[in-house]
Amino acid sequence: MADQTDDVAGGFLLDLRASVRDMASGLLGPAHDPAGVLNLATNMLKIFELTQQSLAATFPPAEPIACAKGCTYCCHLLVFTDAPTVFLVADTMNRTLAPAAVAALKDRLAAFEADNFGLDTVPRPACPLLVDSLCQVYAARPLVCRAQNSFHVAQCEEKHLGERKMVEAHDVPLDVWNAVSEGLADGLKEAGYAGDANLEFSKALGIVLDTDRALERWLGGEPIFAPARWQGPGGAQGLPGTH
Ligand code: SF4
Repeated sequence: MADQTDDVAGGFLLDLRASVRDMASGLLGPAHDPAGVLNLATNMLKIFELTQQSLAATFPPAEPIACAKGCTYCCHLLVFTDAPTVFLVADTMNRTLAPAAVAALKDRLAAFEADNFGLDTVPRPACPLLVDSLCQVYAARPLVCRAQNSFHVAQCEEKHLGERKMVEAHDVPLDVWNAVSEGLADGLKEAGYAGDANLEFSKALGIVLDTDRALERWLGGEPIFAPARWQGPGGAQGLPGTH
């Protein structure tokens, strides 16, 4: 955020991080309730949307946001997200997509991994959830997908083509995303699930779709997401070429 907003918003974002931490550790607590995990992911999405909308009204973008339906440049970046969001996406898919569409997605996830997650290709292929330029789980998409609010679509295209690393964007959604995702990471750690706050999305989703009773097993302490704990390029949030 711009310097003049730091004092006003900084404390608020710290409080937001602490609130999300408490919510996460509470909902992931001793009850080991699968519904609590889905509620946590849903609540995080609502908190993100409400907070970034109200903060953006106070601290509007310096330039018009260029993002529009059908523009998919940021869906070609590698996506990192957390375990509760992956479970929510899988639950949403299984409730809203036809079995044939879920089967087709599983095939695309496997092909994406076999292609080294598109890391060797410029421009990089799209997220396997993108069909006809639309996200198949838009309502449940990860926070990081919501936080990208570019000022210049030409810069997104240049990044897509490997000609640019950073894109000028509205900082409010990015700051709110950071606060919520760091609060969640704190809460996951407190609840005993450290390491599952920053997973490669396609690999993690494939694990959930291919694992019987994945949510119950994760809650029981099985490290089902270990293969999705990314060690490769872009593993830290914010590196060029990733969300
Ligand atoms: S989850 Fe949806 S919005 Fe996010 S990168 Fe994939 S297709 Fe795009």
